Amino acid sequence: MPTDAPEADGTLAWDSTTMVVVEVAAGDATVIGWPPWRLLELPLTRLLGATHESVPVYGSGGFTTYHDTRLAAQLNHWVQGQHIPRVKIKIGESWGREVARDLHRVRAARQVIGPGTELYVDANGAYTRQQAVRIGGALAEHGVGWFEEPVSSDDLTGCASSGTRCCATSRRASTATTCRTSPG
Ligand SMILES: [Mg+2]
Repeated sequence: MPTDAPEADGTLAWDSTTMVVVEVAAGDATVIGWPPWRLLELPLTRLLGATHESVPVYGSGGFTTYHDTRLAAQLNHWVQGQHIPRVKIKIGESWGREVARDLHRVRAARQVIGPGTELYVDANGAYTRQQAVRIGGALAEHGVGWFEEPVSSDDLTGCASSGTRCCATSRRASTATTCRTSPG
């Protein structure tokens, strides 16, 4: 389905996305089509059992294609409108060639959400190792609590190195630096 506007992270751009519908098989019945479940209108967590009463969530978006006004509107919707205390934005625009704009957007995001909301960033592997270390220090100054995929998730040595070196710059950034093996 088409997105409402062009979207991009550090390495990819797109104008359509996919809706995923999951069907869960329960015995010889399929949960989504199982009449008792539908009649009872039970959430799957009650039908199948839950291990936690609640889980923390965060608003994820803040695409690099967004201008400041759109970014502010999205963040305000999550933080003020939905009372979500954590948000994540994309950085690493154009494979790390727009660092000044990345940091501008981080500053803008912090101004919008205030000091009491957790701010996370995701570079989707767009930076070099050297950039990741340098930017990790700058992110810490803005209270960024999570730096996702600073370098390619295929570069495990680079991920570890970025974390260690960010540690010398900022303990907060180092504990938050991570690499994930799947995009998101
Ligand atoms: Mg990600």
